[in-house]
Amino acid sequence: MIPGAFAYHRPASVKDAVGLLSQFGDDGRALAGGHSLIPMMKLRLATPANLVDLAGIAELKGIRAEGGDIVIGAMTTQHELTASELLTSKIPLLRETSLVIADPQVRYLGTLGGNVANGDPGNDMPAVMMCLGATYQLAGKGGERRVAAREFYQGAYFTSLEPGEIVTAVRIPVPPAGHGYAYEKLKRKVGDFATAAAAVVLTMSGGKVATCSIGLTNVAETPLWAEDAAKILTGSALDAATVKAAVTAAEAITAPATDARGPARYRTKMAGVMLARALARAKSRAA
Ligand SMILES: Cc1cc2nc3c(=O)[nH]c(=O)nc-3n(C[C@H](O)[C@H](O)[C@H](O)COP(=O)(O)OP(=O)(O)OC[C@H]3O[C@@H](n4cnc5c(N)ncnc54)[C@H](O)[C@@H]3O)c2cc1C
Repeated sequence: MIPGAFAYHRPASVKDAVGLLSQFGDDGRALAGGHSLIPMMKLRLATPANLVDLAGIAELKGIRAEGGDIVIGAMTTQHELTASELLTSKIPLLRETSLVIADPQVRYLGTLGGNVANGDPGNDMPAVMMCLGATYQLAGKGGERRVAAREFYQGAYFTSLEPGEIVTAVRIPVPPAGHGYAYEKLKRKVGDFATAAAAVVLTMSGGKVATCSIGLTNVAETPLWAEDAAKILTGSALDAATVKAAVTAAEAITAPATDARGPARYRTKMAGVMLARALARAKSRAA
């Protein structure tokens, strides 16, 4: 319950943070809200000799519109996502998702950057970012680059981040006005990670699905983008038979672990149930 000894660093710029992390290599870790990393350190599952706290870096904060995108600084807290009028009007899926992450205490400190960079398949934001077609802005010793959320996750706790690199911001294309959206999450109790969850963003035209995107949480080693399921739904009126076919396609790409949240088959089936619910709710919200 007591973490190993570590040195604490508090840089004031991205350049300095990246410099420190590059210098420390495997002996350094970025610290954001600490609500995934500190528990891991207390369990001695992570034993970094150096913590590089990103909290003093002003350029990592804030939510702004830029062209057709919303850009959210990595150190923006999950609570700030729920409180943003810009996000609530432009990408309400983010508020809906934030509100089912943990509890207010965690959300006051936990950050968007930490949630997407952590690589835990139980984190809720990664599948939502895949669903929304978001891009992560990264900064490292070699400069800046962008990686699509759909290409970022390689395995459990294994992402495209290079040593010394940090997520500086998340860039999300604003979905069309009148889009339908939903995040449906099954959890055992308030504050729990998902047994299974599904994110949906869709647009309707003439009673038919014009565009559709689906993300799935905690039913594989990585978050999943259910591209084939979304293709099945496109052009349909979301009738029962088509939804069933899409659910089957989504279930087919899952590979959850059997754990305290249930056997693998149950969790796969719950992913299907969450998807069907999310589709129905997204449709009811679409203009
Ligand atoms: C009781 C409890 C319940 C929770 N329930 C949920 C839940 O239901 N859903 C959910 O999604 N999460 C849940 N969480 C986790 C919470 O959302 C964390 O805040 C989040 O996963 C990590 O964000 P953080 O800012 O706390 O990051 P930290 O814990 O500080 O860091 C997490 C990891 O990401 C790295 N990192 C952090 N920021 C960056 C960055 N900008 N660039 C590169 N690497 C970075 C760190 O080095 C570390 O490896 C829960 C946590 C607790 C304690």
